[in-house]
Amino acid sequence: MKVCNVCGSQVADQYTTCPNCGSTNLTVQNNAQPQMNVYQQPVGQPVYNQPVQNQKGNIGWGILGFFVPIVGLILYLVWKDSKPGDSKVAGMGALIGFGITFLFNVISIIF
Ligand SMILES: [Zn+2]
Repeated sequence: MKVCNVCGSQVADQYTTCPNCGSTNLTVQNNAQPQMNVYQQPVGQPVYNQPVQNQKGNIGWGILGFFVPIVGLILYLVWKDSKPGDSKVAGMGALIGFGITFLFNVISIIF
């Protein structure tokens, strides 16, 4: 598609003169709209939404899980799929927190 510089009307590519005003002062219009069918995705290569596998967990969640094991457990369950790294750290902290609480209970029962 071209645009007439004189009257501003859109002119089909095959015209060298403007059918509206007869001017030859035409410029090729930069069409910003992407043409469909041209930018088709290649067939047979589906895009998978893979979660980030080797995500490093934030140690802060482990500390939180350690001091408040129930929160760590909840975070572990909530983030299991979306944030595997943070989930693991929070779960680990909760596990250690639970373990130490259990240990203290055993010790206090014994003594
Ligand atoms: Zn014109």
